Amino acid sequence: RGVCSSARRLQGCMSAWVIDQYGSNEVLKFSEETPAPTVSSPSEVMVKVHATSLNPLDVAMRGGYGAKLLNLRRDPLSVVNGDSEFPLILGRDVSGVVVDCGSEVTHFVPGDEVWAAVPPWKQGSLAEFVTLTEFEVSHKPRSISHAEAASIPYVASTALSALVNAGGLCKERADEKRVLIIGGSGGIGTFSVQLLKAWGAHVTVTCSQNAEGLVRGLGADQVVNYSAGDVAEQLESMERFDVILDGVGRETEQWALGLLKPWSGAKYVTLVTPLLQDTDSRGWLSGMFQAGFSLHNTAFQSAIVNGVFYRWAFYAPDGPALDEVRELVDAGKILPVVEAQFPFTQVPQAFQKLEEGHARGKTVVRVA
Ligand code: NDP
Repeated sequence: RGVCSSARRLQGCMSAWVIDQYGSNEVLKFSEETPAPTVSSPSEVMVKVHATSLNPLDVAMRGGYGAKLLNLRRDPLSVVNGDSEFPLILGRDVSGVVVDCGSEVTHFVPGDEVWAAVPPWKQGSLAEFVTLTEFEVSHKPRSISHAEAASIPYVASTALSALVNAGGLCKERADEKRVLIIGGSGGIGTFSVQLLKAWGAHVTVTCSQNAEGLVRGLGADQVVNYSAGDVAEQLESMERFDVILDGVGRETEQWALGLLKPWSGAKYVTLVTPLLQDTDSRGWLSGMFQAGFSLHNTAFQSAIVNGVFYRWAFYAPDGPALDEVRELVDAGKILPVVEAQFPFTQVPQAFQKLEEGHARGKTVVRVA
């Protein structure tokens, strides 16, 4: 099978799930004639995908979410030329094997087992092959399978971006910190609990009742069941927090800011932001202004009323950060949390699973 897919790659095609228009699950099409990527710059590596996993972003992007800003990032001239992003390949995680390297790649050689989070503006990993720059790629942990490894990169890159860049945490000083994770049972939550416990932080998590065992098993110190009455009231009776990571958003902002330690540099970091919705509905320029205005307003209010920082966080590609995660995985401090696995033939079923919500960890697709 490996020889067969390599031969087809050399002929310029591969198998992939593509979309030719935005919509619901019906737009997902399997094609054996998808153009295979090539190594087109000296710093690129091509990876044969063994496994990938789905994220809420895949479902959203299938429906057109973020298209305006992502198209601008893909090709600034597309706005002028009207070039299309289709056929578009979704899928943000990859665990696989390097098959080709650009002339300036120094950290990888063909045959290396790697993992990565594919940026949303690049062709994704629901395909036999994917191309990334070497700075986005990291050697895969040896102690886990490709299917398990594929459950980690995108949530890990996002959690690190949120907790370190926006939340100001670092592994050396996290043991002095009390952190609240709003939405602890999905992909971001199950990874973040483990990362923060590996760093020695005190971790409180909100989740529904039937996820309590899962998050406690991953190390959460305190668990608040949001389906048992007023979650804000339950949290208000606890000691204040240094950092809040919010993966739920919307009305949570109303009460979460008041749970932080005032006037001590505490930070509320949300992953649920209106940026891409604003650029989709208003166009990228006006949308960015609108989003910037609302961020600035809330940040200003939070600073003067609550004495806390209010921040938005986003996924950021970061191969070296994944190197650090690999060490924690190989040391047994971070476990992959795979809730469901699907073969490559059942990608629509995997999307359907994700759309049903109530994730308990990650949904993985085995590609090779
Ligand atoms: P998942 O779908 O894997 O997990 C979401 C979890 O939240 C589920 O376990 C769900 O379980 C739980 N949940 C739902 N409602 C509540 C609630 N009111 N309180 C507590 N828990 C709740 O998503 P991810 O973990 O991958 O992502 C989390 C969020 O972060 C998503 O909105 C995603 O779009 C966003 N995100 C943003 C990124 C960025 O760059 N800004 C990057 C990555 C993710 P249940 O319903 O059973 O309680």
